[in-house]
Amino acid sequence: MRITFLGTGIMGAPMARHLAEAGHAVTAWNRSPEKARPLAEHGISVAEDPAAAAAGAEVIVTMLTDGEAVEDVMAEAAPAVPDGTPWWQASTVGISGTEGLVALAEEHGLRYVDAPVLGTKGPAEAGELVVLAAGEPAALELLAPLFDAVGSKTMVLGDEPGAGTRFKLVMNHWVLTVTDAVAQTIAFAEGVDLDPQLFLDAIEGGVLDIGYAHLKGPGMIAGELPVAFPLKHALKDAELILEAADRHALDLGLVAGTRDRYAEAADAGHGDEDMGMVVAASRPTSAP
Ligand code: NAP
Repeated sequence: MRITFLGTGIMGAPMARHLAEAGHAVTAWNRSPEKARPLAEHGISVAEDPAAAAAGAEVIVTMLTDGEAVEDVMAEAAPAVPDGTPWWQASTVGISGTEGLVALAEEHGLRYVDAPVLGTKGPAEAGELVVLAAGEPAALELLAPLFDAVGSKTMVLGDEPGAGTRFKLVMNHWVLTVTDAVAQTIAFAEGVDLDPQLFLDAIEGGVLDIGYAHLKGPGMIAGELPVAFPLKHALKDAELILEAADRHALDLGLVAGTRDRYAEAADAGHGDEDMGMVVAASRPTSAP
């Protein structure tokens, strides 16, 4: 299939690579061209702007920061796309973001598929994401080989857009609060003059264990983590979860506190670092 891939950041670049490796003709565009250019080595055509990227597409994929970015980019790309083209929207944009984009798709005659992904940089590079898909069954069937190219599992959540996004928010509620719990436990141990490694050693292999603690914990202790999920995006997602809670009359107190901690870490200059640097907000000073 001729696929247009818009947004080749941490997640988009490896996803576009896997689509090309699966034999599809991929054209990519990224606002900062230096992040798209290296994809040419993987047989991907790199376009100068969204409209040029979208011309002649059989499928459009968006993997951009948030709903606003997707709307801006698709406003340029959509007029160049033939009527009836499926649009795989993979970015995490929340409930009202999805509603706005569905309206944009309808305006341009595109078939909107709400399919955000679960997994971070490592799984994206390994082609082991979990695709959380909702949309018209015929479009899902058409996109199934693309989902398989980037993921190890596709979960079909409904036959109209919305459920993919809602489930993504549920899963990110888990990811964000667990990361904050690990961070606060490490900061707590340090604060009461204990080696935080004791916490990781104590839970290892037992019922209290969780892989994420060992993935992020050592880097939190060291104050240095490779960027897999930028903290500013975790803050965005905490806000999207709270927006969803508000719309559904839910009182999610845990993530409200977690949102404040991500905001504090972002204000202290950790926004472009990995989400695990939320630990900085729980330490006695904001310095890691
Ligand atoms: P990223 O590396 O920061 O990439 C964001 C992309 O959006 C970049 O291509 C960026 O362009 C582009 N962008 C942002 N604002 C734009 C605008 N106004 N106009 C045009 N392009 C714009 O982030 P990522 O980690 O790949 O995340 C992408 C999406 O996937 C987000 O919705 C995120 O929440 C979600 N997600 C991330 C992870 C993860 O672990 N990283 C996992 C699952 C889902 P530039 O390169 O020019 O900045």
